[in-house]
Amino acid sequence: MRRQRPTLIAVSTLIAITLTTAAPTPANAAPPDQVTALTAHQADGYTTLAWQPVDGATDYQIERTPVDADNTPTGAPTIVGIWRPNRQINQHAPTFADSGYNPGDTFQWRVRARTGTTEQPYSDPVTATTTAPWGNPTTLGEQLRTGWETTHAAQYTSDTDEYAYTAAIDALSDRVRVVELGRTVQNRPINMMVIGHPIPAATPEAVAATSPVAINCNVHGNEPGDREACLIMVRQLAFSTDPRITDLLNHTTVLIVPTINGDGRANNTRGNSTGQDLNRDYSLIRQPETTAYITMVRDYRPVAGYDGHEFGNSRAGDLPMLPPRHQNVAQPIFDQSQDMIEGHMYAKGAEAGWWACPYGCEGGGNVGLSEETILRNTLGLKNVTNSLLELRSSGGQTRPDEGNTANNRRRKTYSALWTFHQFLDYHRADRADILASRAEAIETQAANTGRLVFRGSRPIPAHPAPHPGDSPPPIDAPPADLILDNAPCAYKLTDAQYNGARTDGPGGVGTTVAQRIAAHGWKVITIGDDHYVPLNQPERGLIPLLLDTKGVERLTDGERIYPTLTGRRNGPLTVTGFTCADDATINGPVTVRAGAALVTTATTISGPLTATGAAGILLADSTINGPVRITTTTDAISIIDATIAGPVDLSGNTTGTDAPVLAGTTIRGPLRCTGNNPTPHNLGIANTVHGPRTTQCAAL
Ligand SMILES: [Zn+2]
Repeated sequence: MRRQRPTLIAVSTLIAITLTTAAPTPANAAPPDQVTALTAHQADGYTTLAWQPVDGATDYQIERTPVDADNTPTGAPTIVGIWRPNRQINQHAPTFADSGYNPGDTFQWRVRARTGTTEQPYSDPVTATTTAPWGNPTTLGEQLRTGWETTHAAQYTSDTDEYAYTAAIDALSDRVRVVELGRTVQNRPINMMVIGHPIPAATPEAVAATSPVAINCNVHGNEPGDREACLIMVRQLAFSTDPRITDLLNHTTVLIVPTINGDGRANNTRGNSTGQDLNRDYSLIRQPETTAYITMVRDYRPVAGYDGHEFGNSRAGDLPMLPPRHQNVAQPIFDQSQDMIEGHMYAKGAEAGWWACPYGCEGGGNVGLSEETILRNTLGLKNVTNSLLELRSSGGQTRPDEGNTANNRRRKTYSALWTFHQFLDYHRADRADILASRAEAIETQAANTGRLVFRGSRPIPAHPAPHPGDSPPPIDAPPADLILDNAPCAYKLTDAQYNGARTDGPGGVGTTVAQRIAAHGWKVITIGDDHYVPLNQPERGLIPLLLDTKGVERLTDGERIYPTLTGRRNGPLTVTGFTCADDATINGPVTVRAGAALVTTATTISGPLTATGAAGILLADSTINGPVRITTTTDAISIIDATIAGPVDLSGNTTGTDAPVLAGTTIRGPLRCTGNNPTPHNLGIANTVHGPRTTQCAAL
């Protein structure tokens, strides 16, 4: 079960108790419309102000004044925020995260209510010194600072600053390993920080076994706020002795890609050096930058992710977020992502004073749609719980622009830092649910034979007024001509389609369809000159978007292949060529000939099932009431969510770079795996095996 959204009462009660204990009521009775019990709690780069609400208040103004050690003002008071009722899910415990100041400086804050436009008396002031930039300046490692921190937010961290900073962290911390995922078009390294405690797992496959989380910090080069937060967070994760941090890193690996678009960042452009918006390329992977990220997702298998951006809508909340909405995303992934956003971020935001809301909140326009080219949707279609994050890039009604560039940058960056830490906390607290949702999603995708949607989103519900979900992103329902009710079981590509030269990459040169399918990690079966991509795979929702003629942004026009085995069939069956079985009952032994392929969904075979030298065997949501023997297969093996009487023998299969998958399957007899290259794996979904397991399958 996924956690329910916390009730308003629970959250407000918690905060009310905190306030009561932290801030005694002044001895002198306050005027009835004066804000009382103002408190200021310090955190990394922001201050949470909280107060007792005033009956009948329309909104509140938050004032900040810089002061010296004697509490004497050193600058003019500034209204840094307007708290409106739609800021947070609970109204009884208003909070405001003040940010956009030099961390470590000392300030005085006051808050006053407004009734209509009438200003009520200010609260008594609260004075505090804010939290200095993270890391003891005299402790090796902790003392490192980014270029952005060193220049007091006057300049963003440059590419060379980034490489020097992360290399220094790598050298000084056992927890961090910097790996180069690839190179940009202009040959800048695309680095990823692999962070674990006490040391990160050694290989991508070993990292995948830790259920890692991935943060993509800066795909749009002119939206650099998240990247600075990521770089600060890497230092915290590398050197902090806080038990919370070490506990997080004991239980997962954190993958941080500070700059997927290094060329765009260096030139402060949205796209890469070719002008391509990389966040419209994660499915097509025409560019080296997106190819690097998608290949990383294939190899490291993150279970949850965040994708950092900035948003120009000055009326929006502090932190617009959005889950993967494409209707081909499995329901458990959509639900889990919504639980992360609405269940966790909205509730924690109301405690910390940050205003999280659905992307586009307050008239954001035609944003947050279903393009599978957007990482949010691509990751959802890859069964990754995830969200978009948009930092508010400019001041507005509820967070006035101070006319101070450095402070605007700080507000964005520290709101991102808060979000990314909350993301890690959510994963730590809800890891079991995230993994269960992922397993359910993978099994659902592999077993699904229902309709395919090429473009179209799930609706994002508005929260009850006065929540900021007043105007969630557009409904974006799929148009009828972008729905295929009669879904095929596979796509067939000619050799020219599969291996032919392409011109859709930088410099008019593109990687082949074969290379892109390999980067996505899809299984392909080659018979003669034909290449088959079966749909009973974990990314069933994404495959047609690239290979069907209805795909809006597709790679090629694959031929739809439909099942030829359905219904009841008695007697022995010999499979030749490429054969799909769907919703079939086969009473008799099944033999798959050398060079042939069998793809099944919702099918029962009395057995035995024997395949010697087959091109491919992909079984999903199927039952084999006898032994299964699959040996010397050449292309692909996938057994997901099956029930097999057994024994099962997987031996001597040599499937190139594509490891056999055995996941979520129950085997009532022994399981023998030997001499397979590569070694089979289970996608993180354990199998139930009643008999003994040998060698290569011992840990599956
Ligand atoms: Zn963006």
